[in-house]
Amino acid sequence: MQRIGVLTSGGDASGMNSCIRAVVRKAIYHGLEVIGIRRGYSGFIDADMGPMNLSSVADIIGRGGTILHTARSERFMTREGRAMAMENVERFGIQGLVVIGGDGSFTGASIFYQEHGIPVICVPGTIDNDIAGTDYTIGFDTAVNNVVDAINKIRDTATSHERTFVIEVMGRNSGNIALAAGLAGGAESILIPEIPFNVEDICKKLLNGIKRGKLHSVILVAEGAASGLEIGKKIKELTGFDTKVTILGHLQRGGSPTAFDRILAARLGAKAVELLMAGETNKMVGIRAGEIVATDLTEVLGKPSPINKEMYDLARILSI
Ligand code: ATP
Repeated sequence: MQRIGVLTSGGDASGMNSCIRAVVRKAIYHGLEVIGIRRGYSGFIDADMGPMNLSSVADIIGRGGTILHTARSERFMTREGRAMAMENVERFGIQGLVVIGGDGSFTGASIFYQEHGIPVICVPGTIDNDIAGTDYTIGFDTAVNNVVDAINKIRDTATSHERTFVIEVMGRNSGNIALAAGLAGGAESILIPEIPFNVEDICKKLLNGIKRGKLHSVILVAEGAASGLEIGKKIKELTGFDTKVTILGHLQRGGSPTAFDRILAARLGAKAVELLMAGETNKMVGIRAGEIVATDLTEVLGKPSPINKEMYDLARILSI
């Protein structure tokens, strides 16, 4: 292995830059050359790529987003598109590929490997933390901290005005962001797609809280569970409380990565390079019980990534 390629794909996640930095510097440390591929699989097909050196990744460790940019590519989902990418692999002399992204990106990488035999190692970079084979994905911790920060601010207003606030957070089909941020931020109720809920129970809890002298309530809704606006409307109908809704949207993704995400990104990126050097392929690097591990993509793709039920139960107990 003399030359590897690296790309970021799918939704951006804070810490992707820290990971690119780790891949580039670890590879150069071992005498490899690195080709940076811009705009994910789109740039892979269009030959939007070029050599990276130590200074290409200077001063990016604390920056959110991805200097390589990211994209979604319909063309890579076709055999013809992937054949075009393969032409660029040959043209640029790429012998192994590091793909930083989510499960869609990993599916693309795995198909590419099966069709063309180019070794691929995937690194989980998505705020949703919804990938099997790893306890955490790069960007999740930063997103959770962004949400907690927002809860703190909204709580000030909720207390001052004695109001109920519904906050809708991201996560696609996963409740992980809502659950972690809800526990950290002391939300009164957390609505996630993995656990059934009914709005009547939430209202009962709200009314009990008011009876006890609670001045405010924060209800966190994962986007995969329900629409924050709908929940807010229903609560207002059932309780008569002035209920405000905030949809955090893209505020959650960006910002400087937390130390946790930077360290995770550094460890995973470095491990990806080690695996390519060791002749491994079709694997994802991840963290499990604090250890950096490699898992075959067949054990990752299409496999569930369940929420931590113990954490959910605890959040319920503590928010009584
Ligand atoms: P996130 O979880 O942040 O959205 P993701 O990697 O899951 O990230 P997707 O949009 O699902 O995001 O996938 C990114 C890209 O991966 C797609 O635009 C496409 O180019 C490629 N891809 C996804 N699924 C396939 C597939 N079945 N075959 C080939 N390529 C795929």
